[in-house]
Amino acid sequence: MPIYEYHCNRCSHDFEYLVLGGDEPGECPQCGAADVCRLMSACGFVSKGAGGETVSSSAGSSCSGCSATSCAGCSH
Ligand SMILES: [Zn+2]
Repeated sequence: MPIYEYHCNRCSHDFEYLVLGGDEPGECPQCGAADVCRLMSACGFVSKGAGGETVSSSAGSSCSGCSATSCAGCSH
């Protein structure tokens, strides 16, 4: 079973999520923000522990460097 790592762009919390049938977490289990990003090579890795990331959630625009539609705050 595929377990992917996700990163929350709001609280910088990294968590693993067991993906079943293409289901995605959609939100951070810690702070509940929908601004999560799957940690894969295509999606810019945000350095851990940085905190204070300025998240500008421009609605509607999906990330060009990440397949996840919920990735609104990664570095792309
Ligand atoms: Zn979070």
